[in-house]
Amino acid sequence: MNFSNNTLNALSNRLHLVNLLSVNEKLGEMLKTIHKTTETEKKNAIFIKKPLTEFTNYDESYKGYVKGGVCDVCNSLLDGKKAYAVDNKTFYDSPEYYSYLCDFQKKIFGIEMSRSEYEQRRKNDTSPGSAVCEDCIHMFADVSNCKLIEQSSDNGKKYYESDNLGSRHDTVSHAMGYWLGERMNKKIKPPFTMYTMPSYESGESALLELPFFHKAADSGKLICDRLMTFGLYEITEYGKPTGKYETLVSGSDLTLDEFHAAESAFEKHGGTRKNRQEPDKNIKPVRVEDGDTSKVNYKEKINDNNSIYEVYTAEKKADALAFLKFKSVHKPNFYIVVDTPEGNIGRDINGIYEE
Ligand SMILES: [Zn+2]
Repeated sequence: MNFSNNTLNALSNRLHLVNLLSVNEKLGEMLKTIHKTTETEKKNAIFIKKPLTEFTNYDESYKGYVKGGVCDVCNSLLDGKKAYAVDNKTFYDSPEYYSYLCDFQKKIFGIEMSRSEYEQRRKNDTSPGSAVCEDCIHMFADVSNCKLIEQSSDNGKKYYESDNLGSRHDTVSHAMGYWLGERMNKKIKPPFTMYTMPSYESGESALLELPFFHKAADSGKLICDRLMTFGLYEITEYGKPTGKYETLVSGSDLTLDEFHAAESAFEKHGGTRKNRQEPDKNIKPVRVEDGDTSKVNYKEKINDNNSIYEVYTAEKKADALAFLKFKSVHKPNFYIVVDTPEGNIGRDINGIYEE
């Protein structure tokens, strides 16, 4: 850490926010009391970081700040950058911020800041909160899931209903059809996790935290760019809506990490687990971007009763998935099937399915 002018400015900036004394007077006051801190460890023990998503994004409308402000920790300019609004309790409760400030004091003034002095600063801070940049937010927020959140923001890429490679359950009856029919007929039952969610929005937010779910720009519905069976539908009781929603993530290529990420997202958004089947730790994801359509070869056309099967072969499931992504089927009883040693994937009027 570089305790340069920049850091000094950061302190001045906070003092300015405190809006109590001039910077010099305040610094003088700080120098007066020197107490060894004894409460730091106690504070450390009780500070629980909330997930990053619970912090409001700092913007120019945020009370007390105008566009062009700086990070209240490191003083870097926030103009055009992403930053977060941190309430004063969280701000001052953070043991990392406390030790950052102590370090700073020590480097600049050669003294340690006492806890009581620190608490006095908190008391004197009448600002509505602090703006904190992305580099400093880890002092206040649990950023362990950040990679996942970044991925799910899609970097502005738009998705459409036609990008859906998954099977979506929109209604209880659709889900029942799967559990009592399709799934019963599968030799190997894919792993899954199922939660009860307090609302549609909570279920949608949880699913969107996973990198393979997106909201379609044309339908407004959730789509999946993996070969998964997923659901978000209202639970009914005696045919009446209950306001509660059931959500499902399932897939033969759902990895253990993804399974755990799904469960923590559901729990974060207030879900209660209903049922689960944990995946094997050796499961590898089948991703469309790993597939090569040129490795898919035509085999035969089969007429069976009223159904027509156009059959292809490929070495890998990913190749089959990439191939089927760009195929479309508009008539019933017509199936495009790709046989692979890893399993067969097909497409019919309802979308892509696994045999
Ligand atoms: Zn900062």
